[in-house]
Amino acid sequence: MPISQDRPFEIIVLGPPVSGKGTQAKLLAKTFDIPHVSTGQILHSIKDDIANPLAQKVAEFINAGSLVPDELVNQLVADRIKKDDCVNGFILDGYPRTLSQAQAIDTAVKLDYVFLVNVSDETIIERISGRRVCKNGHVWHIKYSPPKTETVCDDCGEPLFLRDDDKSAVVKNRLEIFHQNMAPIIEFYERAGILIRIDGEKHIEEVFQQFVRHMIYDLRNKVNRSSGGSPSGTATI
Ligand code: AMP
Repeated sequence: MPISQDRPFEIIVLGPPVSGKGTQAKLLAKTFDIPHVSTGQILHSIKDDIANPLAQKVAEFINAGSLVPDELVNQLVADRIKKDDCVNGFILDGYPRTLSQAQAIDTAVKLDYVFLVNVSDETIIERISGRRVCKNGHVWHIKYSPPKTETVCDDCGEPLFLRDDDKSAVVKNRLEIFHQNMAPIIEFYERAGILIRIDGEKHIEEVFQQFVRHMIYDLRNKVNRSSGGSPSGTATI
């Protein structure tokens, strides 16, 4: 059931590569019936579209594990969230990745929550070796969410492969960039009072419960405040 309110539900999910943020963003999108907008997916589909004049430029950045320039990503996101299916809101995944992107989206929308999925670098490196994707962007993990056959996508039957930018040298570069860029973004959202930290080292279901509990806790406090009551205490999640 789509949430129909007087304003859309606008959520960002941040996290390092393979933190599970994409899986969680999809679960949130399904729960609230709003689109999951992944900049990684948008950029990968541009890269794989040989007819797209931006394909080669985007491929160079992605294959090196570098960030695609802000100006291009900001424009792609601005165009995407203006589409009709985002009228009730969206779950943005993989964006912002720089302070300038955070500032750009901040001028365009009024965010409800920014979730940061925390996972250690050691866990990320361990997880990455098992991730498999198909050309349609379906993601599997040979240990945590295995397809029936290791080399075939259960959703569409396409072959599964390890992405070039999931290879270990590239992952280390992506992690370094992530940590460098994330510090000012975290500060930006902490100052705005909308950053929520999620422990991403737990099971998929337990991680998802943390999102939901944080939202319920926050909504209860908002209701309490608007009815003159006291906040419902400290969140124990
Ligand atoms: P992801 O699937 O989210 O890990 O993204 C894959 C790649 O797409 C990244 O390594 C970047 O090269 C590029 N990318 C995704 N999102 C962004 C963004 N917000 N800004 C710049 N580059 C991005």
